Amino acid sequence: MTLRRLAILRELELTPRYRLRKVEPPVAPEFQPKVDVSVNRATGDRRATIMQMDWLALKQAVSGCTACPLHARRNKTVFGVGDERAAWLFVGEGPGADEDRLGEPFVGQAGKLLDNMLAAIGLQRGTDVYIANIVKCRPPGNRNPEPAEARACEPYLARQIQLIKPRLIVALGRIAAQNLLGTDATVGNLRGRLLDYDGIPLLVTYHPAYLLRNLTDKARVWEDLCLARATMRKLQSPA
Ligand code: URA
Ligand code: SF4
Repeated sequence: MTLRRLAILRELELTPRYRLRKVEPPVAPEFQPKVDVSVNRATGDRRATIMQMDWLALKQAVSGCTACPLHARRNKTVFGVGDERAAWLFVGEGPGADEDRLGEPFVGQAGKLLDNMLAAIGLQRGTDVYIANIVKCRPPGNRNPEPAEARACEPYLARQIQLIKPRLIVALGRIAAQNLLGTDATVGNLRGRLLDYDGIPLLVTYHPAYLLRNLTDKARVWEDLCLARATMRKLQSPA
């Protein structure tokens, strides 16, 4: 995190409390996340190779990937979609049936809700917005991705983030939040505060598919979206 960004965040009273850093700032014990980067990140030569790839090489690597068991039952890989220089990055969990069939993230029912969430803050899929998932292949029966599967897929999203250089990442739901942050804290604990992914501000909100079943949390998502919009405005306004 640069000093200038920290100064902006201080002014916003949004100094991050979670980091994937070795040195943790003092935080209230109940919010202390268990951070162990080795748990949720791949290591070794494969990761190093992926972290050098350009967009084309990265897309080709994903479309032929067999690095975890999810490859066996996929129809199409779901790389991610949108503006490759977007300020906004939304990260979901993994493809469902519709996504697996079409090869694009958030095209099913949850996708409609995500589009509504985007519209609520004046955003549109593809315009200054990129959408990706933690895993690029569909977990059978829409189960949660296993930690080992998420770890195997992690370098692809890490490289996407490096190439996009978003101003703000919005993690949609528990799986996205926990994998990006290396914590096992809940969405309820993580939402409403500015967090950090490798120096990039990150906010957590509920997953749109979860919202389909839990209408009472819609108000909270609205709050989260307002915070996201306000945060982006501050990040983009010249200091
Ligand atoms: N749910 C997700 O998390 N991602 C998708 O792409 C679709 C549904
Ligand atoms: Fe490869 Fe990711 Fe698909 Fe697993 S989920 S096979 S790591 S692209």
